[in-house]
Amino acid sequence: MSNVQDESALLDDATRDLDGVEAALQRLDAGIYGRCEACGVAIEPRDLQDDPLVHLCSDHR
Ligand SMILES: [Zn+2]
Repeated sequence: MSNVQDESALLDDATRDLDGVEAALQRLDAGIYGRCEACGVAIEPRDLQDDPLVHLCSDHR
C-alpha cells in the first residue's frame, strides 16, 4: 500500500541523500571529508560510520 504522500516523502529523502552524497564527494575532493564544516575539527569515526554523509561535529549538530 502506498499513497501520493508516502511517495513524495520517499522522493524528498532520495533527493536529500543525493545532495548529501554530492556534498560528501566535494569534501573528499577538497580533502576536508570527515571534518566539521563549522569548526574544522575531525568528526568522530563512529559518527562517520553511523552516517557517512555527516558534515558537522557532535558540537555543531
Ligand atoms: Zn564543529
